[in-house]
This record gives sequence, C-alpha cells and structure tokens, in this order.
Amino acid sequence: MTAELDPSTVVVHAGRPERVPNAPVGPSPVFSSTYVAGGDRGYGRFGNEAWSALEDTLGQLEGGRAVSFASGMAAAAAVIDLVPIGGRVVAPQHAYSGVLALLDQQAATGRLSVVRADIADTESVDLTDANMLWIESPTNPAMEVADIPVLAAAAHDAGATVVVDNTFATPLLQQPLRLGADVVMHSATKFIAGHSDVILGAVVTADDDLWSAIELRRRSLGAIPGSMDAWLALRGLRTLALRLDRAQSNAAYLADRLREHPRVSRVRYPGLPDDPGHARAEAQMSGFGAILAIELGGDAAAAQKVCESTNLWVHATSLGGVESLLERRRRWPMEVPTIPEDLIRLSVGIEHPEDLWNDLEQALNAS
Ligand SMILES: *Cc1c(COP(=O)(O)O)cnc(C)c1O
Repeated sequence: MTAELDPSTVVVHAGRPERVPNAPVGPSPVFSSTYVAGGDRGYGRFGNEAWSALEDTLGQLEGGRAVSFASGMAAAAAVIDLVPIGGRVVAPQHAYSGVLALLDQQAATGRLSVVRADIADTESVDLTDANMLWIESPTNPAMEVADIPVLAAAAHDAGATVVVDNTFATPLLQQPLRLGADVVMHSATKFIAGHSDVILGAVVTADDDLWSAIELRRRSLGAIPGSMDAWLALRGLRTLALRLDRAQSNAAYLADRLREHPRVSRVRYPGLPDDPGHARAEAQMSGFGAILAIELGGDAAAAQKVCESTNLWVHATSLGGVESLLERRRRWPMEVPTIPEDLIRLSVGIEHPEDLWNDLEQALNAS
C-alpha cells in the first residue's frame, strides 16, 4: 500500500491477503492455539493472522507498527510496564479513570511514582525527572486538549518517553507519532471496532526497540486478543471513516443546539469556536470527534434523571459505537472527583441528528 493514499482508503484496503487466484479478499480469524513447526509463528500466544491484519492497518494509519492486546487496559498496562522500577510518570489530572487507577495502584506498591498535571495548561506540566509522559487528548471525559507537539518536545528534553492515548481522536483525526509522540495507545473497543461488540486494545510505535519491548510484554504477560475479536475490530475499522464523518457532524450539530438549551450550563466540545481547546484541536487534529460533555449547572440529580429519561440514547458507559450512548461519569466511584458531579458524557452515534436531538431535548425537559 503506498503512503499517499488517504486514510479513508487505507482503512478499507490495508491488511488484506495477497491478490492471487482463489485468495479470499479479506483475512479470516484463525482458530488455532499452535502452528506446525518450521515457520515463524510457533504458538498461538505469539501471533495470529487476524492480529497481523489489524496491526498492519493500524500501523499504516498511525505511521508505525502496532501490537494488539486483549483490551485497551492491557495495552496501557504493557506500556506502563516500560517505566523503570521507581521511575516517574507524569499523567493528566483528568484522563480515562482506569488508566489513572492503574497508575495509582502501581504507585501504592512503590513500583513507580505518579505526578498529576493539568495537561491543557502546558506551562504548568512539570517534567522534572520524568521517565514517561502520559498524554490523553482530548481527555475523557473533561474534553481538554493537550498541546502534543510542545509537550512531546519538552518531555524528550527531560528524557521521558511520550505516550498518547488516542482513543477519542482515532487515527483518522490525529496521528500522535507525527506530532512527536513515541507511543500511541488505543482502546480499540471504542471507535476502531465501532459496534460495541468487542473489547480490544492496541499500541503503535515507530521505534523498533519500543515495539519489541511491547510485543515481549504481550507474550510474557499474556494479554492477547482473541482471533475473532481482532477480526471483528478490523471489520469495524473498515467503515471508520464513514462512521466518524456522520458521528462527528451529528456531534457538532448537537453541541450547537445543546448550548442554546436553558437546562445546559456548559457544553464541552473542541469543535465549538469558544471552547478552550478549539485552536489547539484545529492545529493538531483533522476533526473534532464525536464525543462531547454537558453540565447542568451543578445539579447531579437532574443529570442522572436526564440519563435515565432517554428512549433512543442508551444509558450506558463506553463510547465510539454506532449507537449513541450517554452517562453521568461521576456515577462511577472511581471517576476523578474534580470531574463535575453533573457532567454527562455523550458518545454521539450515526443515527439521524433530528432523532438524537428530539430525544435529548425531551430528556432535558423532563429533568
Ligand atoms: C475505554 C478507554 C480505555 C480502556 O480501554 P478498554 O478497551 O475498555 O480496556 C482507555 N482509554 C480511554 C480514553 C478509553 O476511553
């Protein structure tokens, strides 16, 4: 596949078998725990054709080589395992709560230390003695945007490895390796797979030593994807460009309408011209994505009621599927306490925008 192809073409064509007579047009899941000796695969924990097809595609999109994992958390854990014993990780104050909890667990055992930073306030990020800078942008669920090129350069000056959790943006809207990051991490469960039917993760890097260290951790820690799951994720990825176009235009439409609604005190969406992350997102992303968050002026009970009053929107955690989901993030005890109690995260799907708006409006009016 040549490098000049548009990413919307790459998602369709990458990771396919060689075009020889009788070859299938797409890869298949391979259900085998072991392989006949003499080749380079060896054992089912070391490789699978369906992983390779997904990894080839993600690697081309991000500009590196990918390693797929059993979940986004398994991918994150393998990357965090690269930090030397007693090393320091600088991590966002607001980010995916599972990753922050994992870092806290590791800090509690003395494995590493964690410094939390306001990732949107570039000047305030203290990288002294950092071994790893963990960036998420836009952040889950606060929708803050980090200045990836500037932070990556500063982290490299400090000798730190730069990781970006690119789950919200997807490789179609942001390519962190091209912005200076060393490692990209994905929860492929979300937009990449795109149909809320699989849990999967991936790491991508253009550095061969980092790739080998991460692949070694998949072998030794054993958090391997199922072949069927990797196949489902690749099948989902084939339509990412189309899904994202529709979901993103729906999100922009809803952000505009929500900010006019009297029950809504704040809309967080980098696509809004007055959003604090707008200029940065415009500079480093090719679109603003399909996630937004709203606040209801401090009223947690009303926010909960909105989530429980929709008919079309599904009240559920997770994001990035074709169906629109919403939830009040602080219903989870593990969510960071500085996330407002009344913040509702909206994962906008590919339904008709008027249907999405009508259902949200009646739920807001019921609260
Ligand atoms: C969901 C999510 C994760 C965790 O991924 P899983 O596939 O659920 O293990 C990590 N980061 C972000 C930003 C997420 O949204």
